[in-house]
Amino acid sequence: MNQTIEKPVAFHVMAKPTGARCNLHCDYCFFLRKTELYPCSDFYMSDETMEAYIKQTIEAQNTPEITIAWQGGEPTLMGLEFFERAVEVEKKYAPRDVRILNTIQTNGVLLNNEWCEFLHKNNFLVGLSLDGPKHLHDKFRHDKQGNSVFDKVICALRLMQKYKVEFNILCTVNSENSKYPLEVYRFFRDELSAHYFQFIPIVELDENKNITDRTVNAKQYGKFLIKIFDEWVAQDVGKTFVQFFDGVLAAYLRGFSSLCVLRPICGEGVALEHNGDVYSCDHFVDPDYLLGNIHQESIGELVSSEQQKKFGAEKNELPKQCKDCEFNFACHGECPKNRIITLPNENKKLNHLCEGLKLFFAHTKKHMEKLTQLLKSGRPAADIMRPKKKIGRNDLCPCGSGLKYKKCHGKR
Ligand code: SF4
Ligand code: SF4
Repeated sequence: MNQTIEKPVAFHVMAKPTGARCNLHCDYCFFLRKTELYPCSDFYMSDETMEAYIKQTIEAQNTPEITIAWQGGEPTLMGLEFFERAVEVEKKYAPRDVRILNTIQTNGVLLNNEWCEFLHKNNFLVGLSLDGPKHLHDKFRHDKQGNSVFDKVICALRLMQKYKVEFNILCTVNSENSKYPLEVYRFFRDELSAHYFQFIPIVELDENKNITDRTVNAKQYGKFLIKIFDEWVAQDVGKTFVQFFDGVLAAYLRGFSSLCVLRPICGEGVALEHNGDVYSCDHFVDPDYLLGNIHQESIGELVSSEQQKKFGAEKNELPKQCKDCEFNFACHGECPKNRIITLPNENKKLNHLCEGLKLFFAHTKKHMEKLTQLLKSGRPAADIMRPKKKIGRNDLCPCGSGLKYKKCHGKR
């Protein structure tokens, strides 16, 4: 049934051409279990579904830039030819004044010269999954036999650099690497010369609804972000980009963030399965959140449906603790997927990460306000790193750590 009320202006579709199928078997991957949703499927998106996805995504949006996003499972298992055909389909449907931005999330294992040449030529933005240096990356990420794939991922990154492919690193923050924030950050920045990072917290429940041992502890998550933030704000503003920091800054600056976890409502980002089924969100690929199939209703109609609006609005149903929180304007209770803490006398659950989020928001408030001030007055954010006067060794360090300069960034 067509439930369309209005045409959405902009939305985001994460297409999974191989469904949950992957060539690795990472311990924390929630998607591997999703293959059970499609028993007997070969998990290959047909060209017909690919064309419908691209055509409908372009036609439903009235914006100068439209993103065609691919992820998995592992999308490169479709083979390069599939994406070559997809780019041709984009050319067929994109109006002349619309820029198509292609993104692909990959574990990097299959990337070779041919792939990188293609990704560069077609301006793909690549998200590469990497959890830190070898001993941290290998903790939960490995192939189906349990072997390390770290060297292959690093080769993929070097190859992307050689071919000037734009990429960012997607690093999960889990119970292990969260203990080594600066080792992770400096490895990415100094050893890999990477500039764009996404840190995604792992929060998982097992079949008995207990938190898994891979899940990041809330306080540890907050401390992880703070350590990296302090280093970033002291020396890397304008040089490296951490998606979460930018997302929080946007909330200070404009009153809203484009990062879905920091927005008051959800619903603008749907997941598209290999057979054309559309789900409310990448984290809710579950029969209860199935909106329909693009071969029966268009993506635009499904994104605008009452069911999706209801899903989106539910993000704003917060416990009193969040409603009263000084940082609610930036946090909005973070992702509903992570709201698993039952509170006394409260029927809404609190986010598992809350304690760490609060630590981070409180610690960075002064800096975020300063960055906002700089940007509003037309100055570059990087000016925050310029000390007004020469810093004495016994002065407080300008990074905001509360330590003397000589014990912090002025350490010899
Ligand atoms: S459920 Fe979480 S990941 Fe999905 S749109 Fe909402 S905030 Fe984003
Ligand atoms: S920091 Fe905690 S209390 Fe505040 S809005 Fe976020 S989840 Fe809610």
